[in-house]
Amino acid sequence: MPLAKLFDYRLPDGMQAAIGDRVAVPFGARARIGIVVEHPEASDVDPARLKDIIAVRDDAPALPPQWLELMRFLSAYYHRPLGETMLAALPPRLRSTKALPRKATQQPAEADLRFAPPHEPTLRQTEAVAAITARLGSFAAFLLHGVTGSGKTEVYLQAIDAALQRGGQAMVLVPEISLTPQLEARFRKAYPGAPIALMHSALEDVPRTTAWLGAARGDTAIVLGTRLAVLAPLPRLALVVVDEEHDASFKQQEGLRYSARDAAVYRAKLANCPVVLGSATPSLETWQNWHAGRYERIELAERAAPGAELPVVRVVDLRAQPAPDGLSAPLAQAIQARLERGEQSLLFLNRRGYAPVLACEACGWAAGCERCTARMVLHAADRRLRCHHCGAEARIPRACPTCGNVDLRPMGRGTQRIEEILSARFPGARVVRVDRDSARKRADLARTLEAVRQGEADLLVGTQLLAKGHDFPGLTLVGVLNADTALLSTDYRAPERLFAVLAQVAGRAGRRDTRGEVIVQTRYPGHSLFSALVRHDFSGFAEAQLEERRAAGFPPFIFEAALRAEATRLEQTLDFLREATAAVGADPEVRVFDPVAHIITRRAGYERAQVLMQSRSRAALQAYLATLSAHLFDTAPRGVRWHLDVDPIEFD
Ligand code: ADP
Ligand code: ZN
Ligand code: ZN
Repeated sequence: MPLAKLFDYRLPDGMQAAIGDRVAVPFGARARIGIVVEHPEASDVDPARLKDIIAVRDDAPALPPQWLELMRFLSAYYHRPLGETMLAALPPRLRSTKALPRKATQQPAEADLRFAPPHEPTLRQTEAVAAITARLGSFAAFLLHGVTGSGKTEVYLQAIDAALQRGGQAMVLVPEISLTPQLEARFRKAYPGAPIALMHSALEDVPRTTAWLGAARGDTAIVLGTRLAVLAPLPRLALVVVDEEHDASFKQQEGLRYSARDAAVYRAKLANCPVVLGSATPSLETWQNWHAGRYERIELAERAAPGAELPVVRVVDLRAQPAPDGLSAPLAQAIQARLERGEQSLLFLNRRGYAPVLACEACGWAAGCERCTARMVLHAADRRLRCHHCGAEARIPRACPTCGNVDLRPMGRGTQRIEEILSARFPGARVVRVDRDSARKRADLARTLEAVRQGEADLLVGTQLLAKGHDFPGLTLVGVLNADTALLSTDYRAPERLFAVLAQVAGRAGRRDTRGEVIVQTRYPGHSLFSALVRHDFSGFAEAQLEERRAAGFPPFIFEAALRAEATRLEQTLDFLREATAAVGADPEVRVFDPVAHIITRRAGYERAQVLMQSRSRAALQAYLATLSAHLFDTAPRGVRWHLDVDPIEFD
């Protein structure tokens, strides 16, 4: 197996090294850390050149068989060398030859696993917990589909209690670091004496190593972390939870491009334990897995807190209600009413970087590809339209082919001026902006959010960062300003993501006794996404989307992978991609598209392009990728950087 890329070493007489041990070995001019994965009888390496293992490291528990199995799976599925996969999964300190920090290797005090339930569970919550805990000790995958505020977190807490009582460990994966403080506080309050370890990439070296070792020794009861936590060994793993399972941050976008959600399901299988995927707006992959009978669905259709109701959602037709500065009259009136009542409003800007699409503001026409169903992407630099799906090209039309309007422009112009506009329209109102730029530091963000919670703001302008998890008691209105850029996106996942983010942001309105209101401004009020949103009907939306995906031949009904490359000249990049796929040859079960340049083709001096591959059969695609990657690892030309992305979710 070329991909395994294993290196052989001799075990000196008298030294014991078991599979899973970390060892120091000579590698090139230096000593490096390796992991023992096999005890072969013989080696292909000339005995005279075979080097000795320097030392076996006994400062950390050996890596358990289940962990090695997970690594082998990830290495094979994502087509990365096994050694690279394993080392990337270790915290930096464990892959260095330096001694471990003393603190990290100390044994903790006796754990107190008492559970302090935050609330008396509702009937629905009790049923959900019972369904999950009935399966402890065996593999079962649950989709916990609960509207925002339905008490999913409380279900996790109760189910974890049952897992801990059986002597198990629990793993809880969450999307964002910025979410963890609030969630962490809830966990610590519910388990005041239990060893809970946080795991995320922003942790310093020592706490990160300490958390990993505690989990690996089995001392930690609950691991609460972002996607990388799925790679930590938990010898007594008894329950896996993935909260907000639809979130794109579970997919690693560099190095080993794994899906932590998919890895979590695989881990639960290896550990023979249940996995709970929770979301108000599950990914369509997960939804389809439920349809296919692989997952069980548990529904929480109502908010848990007594009297709490889902907000009223209204759609404002921008064709009938012009909004020259971004605010339509109905939205402006609604904001004014909140200001008079001393309540807060949130103006939400969907600021995902979608590729620009050429559109007509007069009639709603948008440039589409003639060869496939995708929209064309506007490449402003050379004034061309390109289909990022099939590679077709076209000139920019002089006028709208439908209505003759000559003022065609890219959709998705920035609306960052909204803060200024609000200050001008509502003098005296306290406007607070929260986005990645205004909240560069975690501490700043936390302080701003706390100030908002304390009522020190009237109008909030925010992006995705504000959509999730935060609880603002005084907030009763959410205005959505620019939903349409996502509807026009070339990315078939855009509607799914738009629905998810709108449901999330809508969930911020009226969490307490006042019922919240959500106003969505759009030029496409007839879009089925909005009617589903108004009804709080994720199921209806998901079914309609799945039908479209099925008809168009998109995931989850087919499987995809992308080969991406970059080189200093675009021709070099495109030649590499053409030659790579030509070398593998045609496969009747795998469709290989032409290479396409990325929308921002040049980045850091490199010209980037990709080839998309599709198949109805996951196995056929995997076999194709195995051949392709073996070829690439053998023949990789100098000057071209490349990687494979299996089950890609980002295309530009
Ligand atoms: P979700 O994770 O589904 O968004 P949460 O678990 O955060 O929901 O619960 C939403 C709100 O409802 C929280 O303020 C929580 O304290 C409250 N809550 C949850 N379960 C109950 C319950 N059984 N009784 C009263 N309040 C509850
Ligand atoms: Zn037009
Ligand atoms: Zn096309």
